[in-house]
Amino acid sequence: MTTQFDSLGLQAGLLANLATLGYHSMTPIQAKSLPPILAGQDVIGQGKTGSGKTAAFGLGLLHKLNVKHYAIQALVLCPTRELADQVAKEIRRLARGVENVKVLTLCGGMPLGPQIGSLEHGAHIIVGTPGRIEEHLGKGTLKLEHVNTLVLDEADRMLDMGFQPSLDAILEHVPAHRQTLLFSATFPGRIQAIAGRVMQDPVRVEVESIH
Ligand code: ADP
Ligand code: MG
Repeated sequence: MTTQFDSLGLQAGLLANLATLGYHSMTPIQAKSLPPILAGQDVIGQGKTGSGKTAAFGLGLLHKLNVKHYAIQALVLCPTRELADQVAKEIRRLARGVENVKVLTLCGGMPLGPQIGSLEHGAHIIVGTPGRIEEHLGKGTLKLEHVNTLVLDEADRMLDMGFQPSLDAILEHVPAHRQTLLFSATFPGRIQAIAGRVMQDPVRVEVESIH
């Protein structure tokens, strides 16, 4: 299996930016998951912390993004604000190769007012925690009808933290015709069950070590 990013058919801007970031070759989880992700398949990626899962889904959703269409096209759900902030930061770094990508974070523990103001200005990609996303959906301040990629990052932790009801509520607002990417450090029965409900013929990729 090749580990070169230039074998993937990524947009030139994204590829050039990866070199600038010092990403010279794919990590194992990236090498295994990016081909099916870029082919539009649903993917379950299992790998330890630090294996490079963010760039795997981040490159997938940036490659697919239509920047000229100023609507929310991707929703990334994370278990905590800290993780959502890290993911948003990494996606913004990866997005330097594409002009004018707007990434917005929506997490609990932050005041609602500024988030509503930011939502009025629009975004392409939302990264957030399930509780706050559900809250915005309930208020009608967030619309997800143009989402074509849903990412469940650290899905095992989200379930451990009791976010299953929020995830179910959010799924009602996301188009059924979409790509769903699920990342998790572990793959217990509860994750298999949620994958069975929210994904279509997912490809499962797993890596043991980081390098
Ligand atoms: P995970 O989500 O699997 O825990 P991250 O996506 O946070 O891992 O990535 C861990 C670190 O590795 C980050 O600092 C990221 O910038 C870096 N990284 C990811 N992919 C590559 C790569 N292909 N080459 C070099 N560094 C990378
Ligand atoms: Mg991660």
